[in-house]
Amino acid sequence: TPASSSPIRIGEELAGVLVLYVAPGHVFREDEAEALRDFAAAMGSVIHTARVQRDKALADLVLENSRHGVLVADADERILWVNRAFEQTTGYTLEEVRGKTPRILASGRQDAMFYRALWRALKGDGSWQGEIWNRRKSGEVYPEWLNIMALRDDEGRVERYAAIFIDLTEIRQAEERVRRLAYFDELTGLPNRAHFFERLAAALDQDRRNGQGLAVLSLDLDHFHEINGALGRDAGDALLREAGRRLEGAASGHLLARVELDQFLLLVLPQEDEGKPLALAEATAQRLLRALTPEFVLNGQALTLGATVGIADSRPGDTVDTLLSRASLALDRAKHQGRGGVRLFDRELGEEAAFDRHVVLNVRHAARKGELFLVYQPQVDSGGRLVGAEALLRWRLPGIGLVPPDRFIPYAEKSGVIGAMGRWVFEQATRRLAGWRELPAFAAEEFRMAVNVSPSQLVDSGVAEALGEVCDRLGVPPGAIEIEVTESAISRAAAQVCAQIEALSGMGFHIAIDDFGTGHSSLSRLHAFPIDTFKIDRSFVTCVEEGGNALAVVRSMIGMAHDLGHTVVAEGVETESQFRTLCRLGCDRFQGYWFSRPVSDAAFEEFAHRLDRPFAAGC
Ligand code: C2E
Ligand code: CA
Ligand code: CA
Repeated sequence: TPASSSPIRIGEELAGVLVLYVAPGHVFREDEAEALRDFAAAMGSVIHTARVQRDKALADLVLENSRHGVLVADADERILWVNRAFEQTTGYTLEEVRGKTPRILASGRQDAMFYRALWRALKGDGSWQGEIWNRRKSGEVYPEWLNIMALRDDEGRVERYAAIFIDLTEIRQAEERVRRLAYFDELTGLPNRAHFFERLAAALDQDRRNGQGLAVLSLDLDHFHEINGALGRDAGDALLREAGRRLEGAASGHLLARVELDQFLLLVLPQEDEGKPLALAEATAQRLLRALTPEFVLNGQALTLGATVGIADSRPGDTVDTLLSRASLALDRAKHQGRGGVRLFDRELGEEAAFDRHVVLNVRHAARKGELFLVYQPQVDSGGRLVGAEALLRWRLPGIGLVPPDRFIPYAEKSGVIGAMGRWVFEQATRRLAGWRELPAFAAEEFRMAVNVSPSQLVDSGVAEALGEVCDRLGVPPGAIEIEVTESAISRAAAQVCAQIEALSGMGFHIAIDDFGTGHSSLSRLHAFPIDTFKIDRSFVTCVEEGGNALAVVRSMIGMAHDLGHTVVAEGVETESQFRTLCRLGCDRFQGYWFSRPVSDAAFEEFAHRLDRPFAAGC
């Protein structure tokens, strides 16, 4: 910035040319010249110098060197003069266009109406500006920003037309590149997450006004991660491209976006005569799934690719987040029910979701607020004698009532609170057992307390030691406690979980395999564990009376357990005849509603003291 006393003055910018005035007689010092050259280079400009006395000469200089194309025509629109930028942009030289009309540049993209409006403006206001498509000498059509002025003489007759234009090609290309990067998925060319969210937000906005509703469909490719892992990145990409192409073909004009590696979203807007968006979304879902059915061929290898779909329709007050989270809940549920299906977010799912949300929000504080308690279910032997109890956790959630453990333990596991919760359960149950061991009604040497332990609890390497410490402190031998771990947990247990089970067994705790028969564990795997007890799952007990295969299966389970030296407990025994049948098969212990439901500690003591029980005589 030259100082005010400087001999250099910055003039105006005219049509892309910045004019610097230098006082007459001033001789540039080397540093000034260098600064000027640096400035020009930084701006990507060229320096033209001219000695000008008159404005006309200045104007000529500006026009000739402007980066904007300039064209001057007479009243009959015959071209008189064009500048260098015109020649560069259009590819025509001054010689080639002199005497012709600017129509040689017409691209044909604008219709007669457009030109009529242009001329009306020129005749009326004396100027027109706007965007227009023209054609270069090479035939290429390009967009330009055009400003035309009609210059009149003193009588008001048009004497000249002057047009100045800027070639927008590069700007448009840059804009398009930015737009594509920001709004489209590079791999499939489909709209991306940002694009979809923007359009969905706008659609919800519109929906608030017209209230016709809309629906969102969330589609996940089944097992894509495994396929990707097995095939490698390139083939995985090719598969995604092909899947995207097929889905787009089946989306019948609804906005389809790829929002994650293998997740697609579809926006269904209300359409006349085509039913509600929800019904439309359901029909589209079927089409999308059908489109994926034919085999994909990659590197000459055929493979099938399934997908699962969740659908939700809009509710008043919805935001992008609330609507999408319902669609994703529906998708989760669909996956849960076996992949390959379509699930709507309906009322029932809504209630479940609200319940789960409540559970998730409160489960962390349940123990601290004293909302947890234990109930106990008796275990008897074949002679009908009380030989143990299973401690089962209960949660009384204010405003909801009793929440069954199946509904909150998964969240306790996910949120990490299971560690503290499990320790609380263990301490409570052990304390109760310490009290009961004093009572004559509990045959002290053989009475066992079974406590359920979640595999997530066993990931913590200090667990075995902590449970041992509780027993020490409360004066209960670990041998009086049975740790129940489900068979499914054992079958996928990580090394550190196995180590904890080993440690617990080493300290004298009994280890029981819960829900035995449902966990798909291999015998070799089970054999590697220090197991004392098998708890046959209720599903086998229920059908044991039907005889046939079920009976044979239970018989062989018991036989195997005994051969391995394990005790067998049957759980979920609900009838006398189940009890008798299992007895006959050699089952050691029994637990179920036929003997007692899980009850409070006081009720359990009462149970222990009563001798008039229907099964007191054994089976
Ligand atoms: P589980 O360990 O298999 O527990 C047996 C479940 O069957 C209990 O349900 C019990 O009330 C029920 N039951 C007992 N006898 C019968 C019967 O004759 N018929 C029928 N239909 N059901 C019977 P509950 O108490 O709802 O517990 C469900 C599951 O929650 C348990 O299954 C266990 O996996 C888990 N759980 C319970 N308490 C705890 C705990 O303290 N910690 C952990 N980690 N899990 C627990
Ligand atoms: Ca259990
Ligand atoms: Ca069980």
